[in-house]
Amino acid sequence: MKVVRAYRYALDPTLAQEGALASHCGAARFAFNWGLALVKAALDQREAEKTYGIGRELLTEAPWSLPALRRAWNTAKGAVAPWWADNSKEAYSSGLDGLARALKNWAASRRGERKGKPVGFPRFKAKHRTILSCRFTTGVIRLETDRRHVTLPRLGTIRTAESTRKLARHLERGTGRILSATIRHQGGRWFVAFTCAIDRADRAPARPDAVVGVDLGVTALAVLSTGETIDNPKHHRAALRKLRRLNRELARRQGPRTPSGGRREASARWRTTKAALGKAHARVAGRRRDGLHQLTSRLAAAYGTVVVEDLHVAGMLANRRLARAVADAGMAEVRRQLAYKTTWRGGRLVVADRWFASSKTCSACGAVKAKLALSERTYACIACGLVLDRDVNAARNLAALAARYEHDVAQSCGETENARGAGVRPTRVGCRQ
Ligand SMILES: [Zn+2]
Repeated sequence: MKVVRAYRYALDPTLAQEGALASHCGAARFAFNWGLALVKAALDQREAEKTYGIGRELLTEAPWSLPALRRAWNTAKGAVAPWWADNSKEAYSSGLDGLARALKNWAASRRGERKGKPVGFPRFKAKHRTILSCRFTTGVIRLETDRRHVTLPRLGTIRTAESTRKLARHLERGTGRILSATIRHQGGRWFVAFTCAIDRADRAPARPDAVVGVDLGVTALAVLSTGETIDNPKHHRAALRKLRRLNRELARRQGPRTPSGGRREASARWRTTKAALGKAHARVAGRRRDGLHQLTSRLAAAYGTVVVEDLHVAGMLANRRLARAVADAGMAEVRRQLAYKTTWRGGRLVVADRWFASSKTCSACGAVKAKLALSERTYACIACGLVLDRDVNAARNLAALAARYEHDVAQSCGETENARGAGVRPTRVGCRQ
């Protein structure tokens, strides 16, 4: 199966390379802001011309598309950025590409042709608010044969913090092709993500007819309908504890906001703690992502049908409890990963309706409780006397749901359209109550 997916590696750059990486990302930001100013000026000019009664076809054109923005940049770069030759041309192109997409999304959203939240007009990228990133689509992009270095346009050969074996094997066998490379600074480290076209040959699930329900837990990572509990990755609790401590420390130091809400210069110690907090967050997120990937790979490899719950993630994230919020964010991630991993193996993902009472329903007799507090860790049925772990009960209900709706559920198959699995539509089942 042909899929597009990303391979992400932490980099281990030298000091000079770190400078070059930052320079390229800064160049992308510069080009974005320059282009945005140009578009804004052109739009203002149009508005002014309209008031003079100039005909529509004679109005000033705003450089809206990537080719138009690039042309404008190439004529202006000598004057506005005499240092442009310091960076790969891809850096400026990357910034302008981001702008062209933002403008397109805004225009589509305004015309009502775009799903989801309304998209605002692009804003200037402030130096301290922007995540440093830059994408390369042409030029020398390759992995070195030692599997510990990558080569990027202009930046040269950079050491990776981990082996590039998995992607390297695909490239060597000819089953993979690199489409683009994105560098990004996150949690105090540099990363490169290769977007690749991969020809996958996955084996079908070990038990194609088996169904498993997955309930993402708060204390454990997940509970399966088989009764199995999958624990959080090692050190997860310690990492969370550290996160809480750093948050308290940050609160004691002088940040950029005064108690009355005004602005002030943040103290050096505040910035130090802020950086440490960012790093700790990245570590927690990394561990969690790793745990979730292992879980979803295992599920997709073993079971023909996987059933998960559809949580209202945006609403749940408003919850103030850290552990709960982390678990909910994980749920969305699990769904995303299962959607594409089950497709790769020819399996199926079933998403239970948001209103399906998986926790409150008895998995033995189907009786539904009116109330079940989060603190009740054991499900005790008054109707049939079943006593079962709360999460196992929920997971069993999810698994049973898939079986119940078997007859009207179509096989969810099809090509994965991108690495995020956005092209995969999981089967939705459930009843509202
Ligand atoms: Zn019961």
